[in-house]
Amino acid sequence: MADFDFDLFVIGAGSGGVRAARMAAAKGVKVAITEDLYLGGTCVNVGCVPKKLFVYSSHYSEDFKEAQGFGWNVGKSEFHWPTLRDNKTKEIERLNGIYQNMLTNAGCTLLNGRGVMIDAHTVEVDGKQYTSERILVAVGGWPFVPEFPGNEHVISSNEVFYLDEFPKRAVVVGGGYIAVEFAGIFAGLGAKTDLIYRGDMFLRGFDQEVREFVAAEVSKKHVNLNFNCDIQSIEKQADGSLLISTNDGRTIEADCVMYATGRVPKVENIGLEELGIKQAKNGAIVVNNNFQTSVPSVYAVGDVIDRVQLTPVALAEGMALVNHLYNEGSADVDYDLIATAVFCQPNIGTVGLSEEQAREQYADIDVYVSDFRAMKHTMSGSDERTLMKLIVDQATDKVLGVHMVGPDSGEIIQGIAIALKAGATKAIFDSTIGIHPTAAEEFVTMRTKTRS
Ligand code: NDP
Repeated sequence: MADFDFDLFVIGAGSGGVRAARMAAAKGVKVAITEDLYLGGTCVNVGCVPKKLFVYSSHYSEDFKEAQGFGWNVGKSEFHWPTLRDNKTKEIERLNGIYQNMLTNAGCTLLNGRGVMIDAHTVEVDGKQYTSERILVAVGGWPFVPEFPGNEHVISSNEVFYLDEFPKRAVVVGGGYIAVEFAGIFAGLGAKTDLIYRGDMFLRGFDQEVREFVAAEVSKKHVNLNFNCDIQSIEKQADGSLLISTNDGRTIEADCVMYATGRVPKVENIGLEELGIKQAKNGAIVVNNNFQTSVPSVYAVGDVIDRVQLTPVALAEGMALVNHLYNEGSADVDYDLIATAVFCQPNIGTVGLSEEQAREQYADIDVYVSDFRAMKHTMSGSDERTLMKLIVDQATDKVLGVHMVGPDSGEIIQGIAIALKAGATKAIFDSTIGIHPTAAEEFVTMRTKTRS
């Protein structure tokens, strides 16, 4: 048997890479992991974690207002961006340290630098070559910004967490998770906010009723929605502000334009072409059911394989791979019924099929919808509404999809996802006694169907 420096060499210390490295090391595998940016990857540094911290901050503006209905006079409130930005950065640095400790305590050799594959068993980092029986590529993704005149003036989710100044006027471009979440963050923190989306309704792929409900709710919270609209050019003006020309002949002035138009696999200069590793059109690494690339000793997990761009999916893939390689278990990941949340305001929580998907896949479905004002808002003065929706297969009574738009939807839908994984029927939902008074109890008290 060939003598290698390592058993497993992981390129990329993001969610998938770190999980795989730690799990493998815990099994006695000799692991190296290299990272050229920040430990923890997108999620920890410029994604889920700092985003959620910003979402918390952006909620306070309405919390202060709503507190008055409950007897609190909070006085004049003022938002100080450097405090939020720098406290967030401190927290991220703390997490970076935890990641470093986790990896070294697990026995992994942690390297700092871009890992470039030289051959099927060799990775070069910072001019030094290491051999490994297997290589795992977990380099993640990177924001995509389309080409157009003036695109050098825009920022992406990489920069938004570190702005020197908080913009008075912000424009967010895109209609996916990141755009909708950041529109809510900018608006909540006090920026005049426009969202520009090229189609006629954002959040493509989500349940249509949910999309329309969210459009109405975020509009109430002062996000100006510009649908069927795209940016043609951006010009920097003498005062530093940005003049945006749209394809519908309008101009919008802004201090900050953030593009959230998807993410692409971050595959440059890691040796994929040189090794002849098969890639999809968008650069994603093609893998088989065992996360093995077209070069048998090289594997890939996470955003770089572009199956489902979610942290928990990358974690699951990393664990499945290690289980497969070192326990002779299966590398199967169950991609069915992945619950997700969009942390817009109010949040979206969703698991299973949309009404439109269910109609395509099932002969007859029943749909239960509840649209109400949450108890808190009877006194808060807020006109925010909550939407809850269940989609049921008539033939089997199985619940096919559950959707919610409202506070803490992500928290609520996470629990419901377990029920759906267990194959819960509508009868099981109905026989579950609710927790009163909560919004979530509505899911077990929807007795009258809205439509079939
Ligand atoms: P998404 O793929 O979700 O959305 C991209 C958006 O940009 C779509 O609305 C798309 O429009 C639009 N778009 C794409 N190309 C262009 C273009 N050339 N010009 C104008 N608009 C364009 O990407 P995000 O960047 O929002 O997020 C990336 C991934 O990160 C998501 O897929 C998600 O999985 C993950 N994520 C998850 C979060 C969570 O779980 N809460 C939070 C943030 C990110 P169209 O619909 O018409 O194609």
